[in-house]
Amino acid sequence: MNSLYLNKIIKSFGKTEVLKNITLELNENELLVILGPSGCGKSTLLRLIAGLEDLSSGEIYLNDKRIDRLEPKDRNVAMVFQNYSLYPHMTVEKNLGFPLKIAKEKKEVIKEKVINTAEMLGLTDKLLNKPSELSGGQRQRVALGRAIIRKPDIFLLDEPLSNLDADLRVKMRAEIVRIQQKLNTTTIHVTHDQAEALSMADRILLLNNGKIVQLGTPEELYKKPNSVFAAQFIGFPKMNIIDATIENKYLMPFGMQVESFQIDDNSNLLMGIRPEDISLHNNGQFQAKVTASEYFGEQYIITIVYNGIELKISGCQQPKKISETVTFSVSESSMHFFNKQTGLRIG
Ligand code: ADP
Ligand code: MG
Repeated sequence: MNSLYLNKIIKSFGKTEVLKNITLELNENELLVILGPSGCGKSTLLRLIAGLEDLSSGEIYLNDKRIDRLEPKDRNVAMVFQNYSLYPHMTVEKNLGFPLKIAKEKKEVIKEKVINTAEMLGLTDKLLNKPSELSGGQRQRVALGRAIIRKPDIFLLDEPLSNLDADLRVKMRAEIVRIQQKLNTTTIHVTHDQAEALSMADRILLLNNGKIVQLGTPEELYKKPNSVFAAQFIGFPKMNIIDATIENKYLMPFGMQVESFQIDDNSNLLMGIRPEDISLHNNGQFQAKVTASEYFGEQYIITIVYNGIELKISGCQQPKKISETVTFSVSESSMHFFNKQTGLRIG
């Protein structure tokens, strides 16, 4: 069974098509992360599922029931927004219980569910506080609590962590995954942060310009990006992408024989190499000059220029001097190739 099924969704605002033929099936209890740059249509997609926008065309099914013509309140979907949207004059207890009160639950039931939800989210000692008395992280927990208290069929989380500071953001990633697993509810989490997506997702849906670029597990997207866009959007530092050609079966600019796939001579390619797949060492295959050496605590990221081509190398344990000559190695197995015209993966 798939819990959410989007069939050929198109959404236009005026003449601008912002979602272009999105078809997607979510597995039951899956945590799907929608990743993409600002403006690519992530929020619009969530708002369509929640019923806050109308489809231009297509269909939405939740647990095999068509929902795209239902009122938001009849969809059993819960959405959490980036800016929390808590009621400032209500205590945490009242904020948490509000969706149940609207649903006309009994007082005792509300009380019990509020206590359980607060406990799950570590808010028990904040129940009598107002939102203004809470930290950003605590407010975000209340917003989450208000979404989960109703036991919806699906959670939609729209960049819920982007207002938090870096430390808390990392902590809350794990927290959301924990809660999602405990509640066993299908969830779509939206972010523009690739590290957040990699760390949380069962599967990632990479979106660009209103279109699906790639859908797969974090490992699939990282190890086998289907396009230059996917290759460079995921991973830090970005994958090095350089122009390459095959001349007499030799891959230039490195002059290596490539065996893993068949490409005609003189084809123009783009070659991708992740910064961690280049190693700097004495007696490397190729010689280059250092142009930058950046310290990141656990590693140095070194920028080199080889044959006029700039390459970043991560995972270095030692700094390098600017203008120092170094040698490095790359292996064919770690190279990615893309069609220069289409940007799509080859092989
Ligand atoms: P994201 O959440 O990925 O940053 P959005 O879904 O908010 O992107 O927006 C996608 C595109 O749709 C943007 O170009 C945005 O300007 C446009 N858009 C969103 N909502 C509206 C609206 N109500 N009217 C007109 N254009 C809109
Ligand atoms: Mg958005």
